[in-house]
Amino acid sequence: MKGALFDTDIEKYAEALERNGEYKLSNATVTAVPPQYASKPNEYSMIINARTEINPLDILGVLLYVSGTKPIPWPHGGEDLVREMFLIDHSYDRPSIVSLWNELLRTQAELLDSWEESYHVVGILALTGRTYKGFTLSTTMSSVIVPNPEGVKANALRAWPASNTWLEERFNLKVTLPTTFVENLHLYLCCSKCGCRTNATVNTTFNCPFCNVQDAQSLPRPIFKVDAVDDTGSMALTLFAREVEFLMGLSSIEMWMLKENGNEDVFAEKMHELRQKNVALQIGPTLALTTSKVLNWTVRSIAFE
Ligand SMILES: [Zn+2]
Repeated sequence: MKGALFDTDIEKYAEALERNGEYKLSNATVTAVPPQYASKPNEYSMIINARTEINPLDILGVLLYVSGTKPIPWPHGGEDLVREMFLIDHSYDRPSIVSLWNELLRTQAELLDSWEESYHVVGILALTGRTYKGFTLSTTMSSVIVPNPEGVKANALRAWPASNTWLEERFNLKVTLPTTFVENLHLYLCCSKCGCRTNATVNTTFNCPFCNVQDAQSLPRPIFKVDAVDDTGSMALTLFAREVEFLMGLSSIEMWMLKENGNEDVFAEKMHELRQKNVALQIGPTLALTTSKVLNWTVRSIAFE
């Protein structure tokens, strides 16, 4: 049977449906196709509209990480508790976020805490779609976490992070940077040879005690802690020289001189503009994944939309 979406529903469900995905649909409208449009006799079509529930059946993926517990207060007292699980498999071009709610957090707390900083292949059954910071997959009362799923796909996923292709993975995110504030930008001086911090005067040569180089230069370096936010959530990122220079439109030495001369209001203006902009980020995992089994994201490229 063919299904169709119209008008604003197309956008509403754009994130919810994936090619070759399996879903449970309820409340779709089924109608007979008028004979002049039918490709065969007695053809029916399904119209997915605003009242339709689209429920992915379950998910199997490599768990990248589990967030801490966040309270979501109700308007008139009380709260929901949510943790987010970031999962990935071969077919996704970005991690899937599964929101774990309330009861499941209490019953599976020990398991989830043990997973916080490592990766495993995990299955979750009986998920539902839910609108929470955009469309996310959410657990329900009947959801079940399968900590060691079996089967061909699970085994393929287990082998996957160890394979060479893992480090080549790239995710393209369209984000805004709403937390670009002056207090999150740090400038320091470092050795041009080894990158260690130094107190030597900017742009002078000095003997670096860390790398023993006699004519190391003291160079300014920025570190900028930002939250990359899209309609599915946010990700804390630490940006270094190249990316910060791009976002601020200033070289590291220019930033340093502005700070030295007390002209930090220039940063505030630039950051105000930055908070309005749409940014295309490409991120990838770092080597840390294969050495310590802790996933670290690093920015591979950054551009304005
Ligand atoms: Zn050095």
